[in-house]
Amino acid sequence: MVSAKHIDPSSSIEETIAAIATPPGPGGIGIIRISGPLALHILIRLFKPYHKKDFQKPVSHRLHYGWIVDPQDDSPVDEVLAVYMQAPNTYTREDVVEIQCHGSYLVLQEILALILAKGARLAEPGEFTKRAFLNGRLDLTQAEAVLELIEARTDEGRSLAVGQLQGRLHDQVAEIRNRLLSMRAIIEVAIDFPEDETDILDSAALQQQMQQDVEAPLKELIAKADQGRIFREGIGAVILGRPNVGKSSLLNTLLQEDRALVTAIPGTTRDTIEEYINLKGMPVRLVDTAGIRDTCETVEELGIQRARAKLVEADLVLFMLDASEPPTEEDSRLYESLRQNRKKQQVLLVLNKVDLAPQADPQEYRSAFGNESLVAIAAKHHTGIAELKDAVFDMVTGDSSGWDPGGDCVPNVRQKNCLVKTLDACQLIIAGLETELSPDLLAIDLQAALNHLGDIVGETTTEDVLDLIFEQFCIGK
Ligand code: GDP
Repeated sequence: MVSAKHIDPSSSIEETIAAIATPPGPGGIGIIRISGPLALHILIRLFKPYHKKDFQKPVSHRLHYGWIVDPQDDSPVDEVLAVYMQAPNTYTREDVVEIQCHGSYLVLQEILALILAKGARLAEPGEFTKRAFLNGRLDLTQAEAVLELIEARTDEGRSLAVGQLQGRLHDQVAEIRNRLLSMRAIIEVAIDFPEDETDILDSAALQQQMQQDVEAPLKELIAKADQGRIFREGIGAVILGRPNVGKSSLLNTLLQEDRALVTAIPGTTRDTIEEYINLKGMPVRLVDTAGIRDTCETVEELGIQRARAKLVEADLVLFMLDASEPPTEEDSRLYESLRQNRKKQQVLLVLNKVDLAPQADPQEYRSAFGNESLVAIAAKHHTGIAELKDAVFDMVTGDSSGWDPGGDCVPNVRQKNCLVKTLDACQLIIAGLETELSPDLLAIDLQAALNHLGDIVGETTTEDVLDLIFEQFCIGK
């Protein structure tokens, strides 16, 4: 295990890195970022300032107007604003330069090529943030928050990321850590003075302290992680039903209602249509299996095959039925197939087209299809959609009142795993205090708990784990 604090940064951090920080494609402006010891030197080589005098000794954190030129022949590349930010008050805590040019991919590429030719190398994904972490500006929870903030799909997800970026989780972990360190101090004294061990180690009091001050807050954080996961990562829902039951109509209705809040994502395939909707703050990836129906004669067979793959990934299945007809054999076959392939997925029966059959009895459909929960809707007329959303939210979260993550501190999956390991170690300590285990053995469990806790903020995290985290970032962040 390598402590992040002890990873020798000298080899990589002496290098100056550069990358385009804005997304590809035309835009108002494009930004190139440089970080490392050569940042200013490179800027001076490529930048022709409008006010030469101002730039003779560039003032840190001030925008300078001018042109980027090709130093070989002084030919202009683009009109830009450039800022030099002197270490350590920068994102990476290194010297940083940012060049704002016109948002043309060709211009950005050209400027980047000139920067690389002057001694920088292309940054790896997340390398700026990784440097911010290695240089101690961010802890690992905050670095992860940067990624979450960039990728957040709903306000709730964004709000969670901001809280974490502000250091909420870091502070809570630090508090638990301090309590464990006080416990370690007591145990160490008991180890050093074995003759006074019983006076020093008041097992019952320590046990109570551990339960109250360490075990309870750890459990609380772990519970929040489970709740927060669905707001962070969202859930997958498959809309299943025989042809013409109204699957595409439902998808369209949900999309129309949420279009302003929805992030379009690639992933639409020939056979299934995937879209994200924002359901009470929860990103829901909706998969409509309707597109398969024209591709093969044995529609439902093929449908099930394709849907099966989607089902494996789904958390929820919206099984659609048509209220204007009694349940058909095709419905039953499809449901049976779903039942056989179902794993952890919850199923919500969606009885559609109730406008055509106001007298339809939901109970009749429920008893024909496993007595699952049911909502009645008319997708085409936007009827019952709010109830459908409530039902989905309720099924997934166990509470339809909504969730406000404001002020909450919600660990992600990696952090949760570290918390669970910390909790396991702490429960061994509590059990050890109960059985009056020797202080040497208690100290071992205590150290394990501290290490797992350290993994959360990146103090004791292995290089492999760090690489895995930063690889998920885009280049330029
Ligand atoms: P899919 O094959 O399951 O995707 O079904 P579609 O969404 O294409 O709908 C099939 C037909 O049912 C279309 O003509 C829709 O306009 C109609 N339809 C869908 N939902 C409703 C509804 O709530 N009420 C009525 N009356 N017609 C509907």
